[in-house]
Amino acid sequence: MTTTANEITYRLEQKRRVQADFPGPKSVALGDRRRAVVAAGVASTVPVYVADADGGIIHDVDGNAFIDFGSGIAVTSVGASDPAVVGAVKEAVEHFTHTCFMVTPYESYVALAEQLNRLTPGDHEKRTVLFNSGAEAVENAVKVARLATGRDAVVAFDHAYHGRTNLTMALTAKAMPYKTNFGPFAPEVYRMPMSYPYREENSSITGAEAAKRAITMIEKQIGGDQVAAIIIEPIQGEGGFIVPAEGFLPALADWAKENGVVFIADEVQSGFCRTGEWFAVNHEGVVPDIITMAKGIAGGMPLSAITGRADLLDAVHPGGLGGTYGGNPVACSAALAAIGSMEEYDLIGRARHIEEIAIARLTELQSQLSSGVIGDVRGRGAMLAIELVKPGTTEPNPELTKAVAAACLKEGVIILTCGTYGNVIRLLPPLVITDDLLNDGLDVLAAAIKANA
Ligand SMILES: *Cc1c(COP(=O)(O)O)cnc(C)c1O
Repeated sequence: MTTTANEITYRLEQKRRVQADFPGPKSVALGDRRRAVVAAGVASTVPVYVADADGGIIHDVDGNAFIDFGSGIAVTSVGASDPAVVGAVKEAVEHFTHTCFMVTPYESYVALAEQLNRLTPGDHEKRTVLFNSGAEAVENAVKVARLATGRDAVVAFDHAYHGRTNLTMALTAKAMPYKTNFGPFAPEVYRMPMSYPYREENSSITGAEAAKRAITMIEKQIGGDQVAAIIIEPIQGEGGFIVPAEGFLPALADWAKENGVVFIADEVQSGFCRTGEWFAVNHEGVVPDIITMAKGIAGGMPLSAITGRADLLDAVHPGGLGGTYGGNPVACSAALAAIGSMEEYDLIGRARHIEEIAIARLTELQSQLSSGVIGDVRGRGAMLAIELVKPGTTEPNPELTKAVAAACLKEGVIILTCGTYGNVIRLLPPLVITDDLLNDGLDVLAAAIKANA
């Protein structure tokens, strides 16, 4: 069941076209203005300024056209200007920009909650709350879990990324750049070993055994009856697109159920068709108690959500959850339209099709390179990665990773890196990217690795 993006119409020509000497004069001038006024702590991967974006292409202000392998960090799965999303935003914004759902509610919030309750795993009774950012969704999932269980401890994992607010920094594993000098951090957060197949000391360890390793530590170091929640990304994002060994997630979810622990799947990055399912937990039939969503949910508009068991979410007293902007009506309309486009374009099928093309090409490249610098090829759907290592070892190679990303950018392909060791190249194209553009970008990536390895 491979679909093509043929039925999708594009406003911009889906073709890469960059001048040798970009950034051009307009981007350079904007960069100068920016440095005078924007805090240095906000860094940008690409030194050009955007004029337009559509499908798999980003145009800059100097007329360069880049292939987008980042989707603004897994956000624009339906494209950055999907006609349905644009139309829904225009329609909504002409009526009201905001009233605050906590003051005067509106239908689009309710309609989106209906959709999220329908699309998230499990056929149990569910409730939804809407927020603005992924970090805010994670914060609120933990709030609900603590209130509902009357317990304090929260378990997170090695290589985890859950955001940049105080609690979510505590949940996030990597010090630099996310945590260093930003403490003190929220208490009662405990970190456990992840299942990371490529880097396990015992390479034959199963997912169930890796889960047992974490569970034993939880029981010994915290006590199962003290734990409010386990929070985990079913495929870790910023930590390196780590796909845990099969059986790891189900074993953790089972243990959580037996011990009255709320199992929170952080699907902020992996959700909404990205991995070739609506949610990454679907690959192993795991049904989380609460699921956090953001990034791909609303076609680029800022929106996040938690959906979970009605008994947990309804345990919170009226007024205990919310926020001024949470579930903004324009963002809700965008999300409803984006979900409509995901179904209409069969973006689950598209994500699987992207996986088929890219995994075949990346594994072929891995075997072609006698230097052995591609240590691992992994991922699901259109959430794919290669881990680069020093020739013939498993030692991380962040220098090569940086060089490859820079070489790709020079040719007009926007590539994001990630990973605890900074040595992972991740592919997150919009799910509406054409096969031609995907293959062109992969050609550039392959050439960049060959030239630099
Ligand atoms: C990006 C991300 C977050 C944080 O989302 P923001 O919208 O940036 O606050 C949380 N969890 C995961 C898994 C993410 O990828």
